[in-house]
Amino acid sequence: MNKQNISKKILHWYDNNKRILPWRKPVSKKQKQYFTLVSEFMLQQTQVKTVIPYFNNFIKKIPNMHSLATVSDNKLMGCWEGLGYYSRARNLKKTSQKVISDFDGNLPNNLEDLKTLPGIGEYTASAIMAIAFNKPIIPLDGNVERILKRIFYLKKDWEATKENLNVKKDFFGYSNRSSDYAQAIMEIGALICKPKLPICKMCPISKSCSSLKKKDFELKSKNKFNKIKYFEADIFKEKNKYLLIKNKKFNFLKNLLIFPMREINKKKFKSSLNKRINIKISNMDMRITINEKNKKKFLSNSLLLDKDDIKNHILPTFTKKIFKSIVRY
Ligand code: SF4
Repeated sequence: MNKQNISKKILHWYDNNKRILPWRKPVSKKQKQYFTLVSEFMLQQTQVKTVIPYFNNFIKKIPNMHSLATVSDNKLMGCWEGLGYYSRARNLKKTSQKVISDFDGNLPNNLEDLKTLPGIGEYTASAIMAIAFNKPIIPLDGNVERILKRIFYLKKDWEATKENLNVKKDFFGYSNRSSDYAQAIMEIGALICKPKLPICKMCPISKSCSSLKKKDFELKSKNKFNKIKYFEADIFKEKNKYLLIKNKKFNFLKNLLIFPMREINKKKFKSSLNKRINIKISNMDMRITINEKNKKKFLSNSLLLDKDDIKNHILPTFTKKIFKSIVRY
């Protein structure tokens, strides 16, 4: 298949099969920049189906770059609550402020300037360039990587480096519908060339696929593995109220309310309440043992909340999970 045929087939498939997503609806060029910025930040660590209601609510409450730059932290976190990875929300606000102060309210349309904005790295900058500015760039996300690995049957580490995959992207060629084209390739990865069971009979580029010819769709697992870490969380209870502190200690969930906790050695992983929970954060598997403490130490930044107060506070899912494990609410 020549490159022109490949782009034609991919776009034909996309036009007939793309998902209706709120950030894809036709809007002005300026609003498209904003929709792309917000959706790309939300999608950085979260699946599309989870993001959809958050995106809709966010746009309703914070409809444009100016309102984002001036939104209160409380309202911002309220819109982000439950989506996790809260540094994304903080960076999103900082980015909008910088866009207003340094770029006259418009996202810059070049990779270098985009990458100076908080929370925007190589991938997000490429996605914004392609999707919002219709530039002929194919962002290398996990979906595009997977398609390339299968098309070229790249199983060995040295074959599947980012550098090599960026070279292999040449396979796709380009289209003057750059925005649609980038989204179309990512969409094939998400809907057709799925990690476990690719639906090759629906794939518009199956004729070029080496993995299909070999009937071997296994991908070499990434070297990334989740680190198991052990923590102890302290429950200080006073008249049905529980003590929470503002996290200044750990890099995850920074400045959010958590139960006082510390990292411990595996040997000390015991629970006076017989409660242990597992939570995944980033590439860390957290094993948390929950212990009741009698004496409330003085802790700055602390707050006593009961089960009703909890509903009225913006808490990370992380804290809610621990809360649910000790009290029904
Ligand atoms: S033919 Fe199958 S394995 Fe190959 S790219 Fe298409 S969906 Fe993926």
